[in-house]
Amino acid sequence: LGMPSVPLKLADRRRSRQIQVGSVAVGGDAPVSVQSMTTTVTADIGATLQQIAELTAAGCQIVRVACPSQDDADALPVIARKSQIPVIADIHFQPKYVFAAIDAGCAAVRVNPGNIRQFDDKVKEIAAAASAAGVPIRIGVNAGSLDKRLLEKYGRATPEALVESALWECSLFEEHGFRDIKISVKHNDPVVMVNAYRLLAQKCDYPLHLGVTEAGPAFQGTVKSAVAFGALLAEGIGDTIRVSLSAPPAEEVKVGIAILESLGLRQRRLEIVSCPSCGRAQVDVYKLADEVTAGLDGLEVPLRVAVMGCVVNGPGEAREADLGVASGNGKGQIFVKGEVIKTVPESKIVETLIEEAMKIAEQMEAT
Ligand code: SF4
Repeated sequence: LGMPSVPLKLADRRRSRQIQVGSVAVGGDAPVSVQSMTTTVTADIGATLQQIAELTAAGCQIVRVACPSQDDADALPVIARKSQIPVIADIHFQPKYVFAAIDAGCAAVRVNPGNIRQFDDKVKEIAAAASAAGVPIRIGVNAGSLDKRLLEKYGRATPEALVESALWECSLFEEHGFRDIKISVKHNDPVVMVNAYRLLAQKCDYPLHLGVTEAGPAFQGTVKSAVAFGALLAEGIGDTIRVSLSAPPAEEVKVGIAILESLGLRQRRLEIVSCPSCGRAQVDVYKLADEVTAGLDGLEVPLRVAVMGCVVNGPGEAREADLGVASGNGKGQIFVKGEVIKTVPESKIVETLIEEAMKIAEQMEAT
């Protein structure tokens, strides 16, 4: 008690080569970055830029936009120029859009090996153009669009099939001396996905983009992504992440950031340590935690606020936090840095906590 907490470390990070996606370094010792993908029609420049601005505000560091048509390709120069964060063009079938994206100033291009067969004779030109522009390529393998040859060989999208597909595609680029690559091998089953990335991590030194594809609606997708990314990141595997949810993309970013914060891979911002409540609770903990969370929403400092329902564990937890409350007998003991600074009636707990949190946040920002 009272000891400064020493952050514990996860496994050492896998040593990957570093690439540069616009202003964001990916791989090597660069912090794990969070990315997402727009859901607007890319050709609708206004709507796409608006969504990119929302994603940027949510903390997204790299954004991907789909490019299935010439109209979308035509929109890329303005989007790439006006976006506050690097833009990756997502291209499946048409090599001409790869060249368009490179010319447009996109920070990277994502291609899919399962759909790239027809790119074969174009790989040399793509490698030359990407190399000249300093634009990296993401080789994005998806279970749903795995190369037919590999589906036949393995029967289904096994980890081995996903990895073989990705490395084969890399080899097409490597033949032309192009190694400015990152890779993803996505599957909707976290067990297959985790094993695929583990295998891939052993077989190459390219930076890895983690994703559970088609992870599902917000709750299921959040759990699947958190479990799969957590398993890999805890082993030091993963350089950039994208949570896929059937939900607005800003939600994906929030979840991605929360995963990194939970693993200590990114400094936590506001953290509410609230108890689950039990038969001893002398206050409505859920309501109190919700009100405190809402009242402190948007606070950017790494503040840890404990909201505890009773005086059994309450004071102990509240003492470990920057600020906390332990409730009992219709009152709340307010702790700041381990000291009870005041006791307030229950009706004043929320406003007192918010007031004190703001004071601490100001001090933190000043230092
Ligand atoms: Fe129960 Fe008190 Fe623990 Fe909350 S702090 S879970 S109310 S014992």
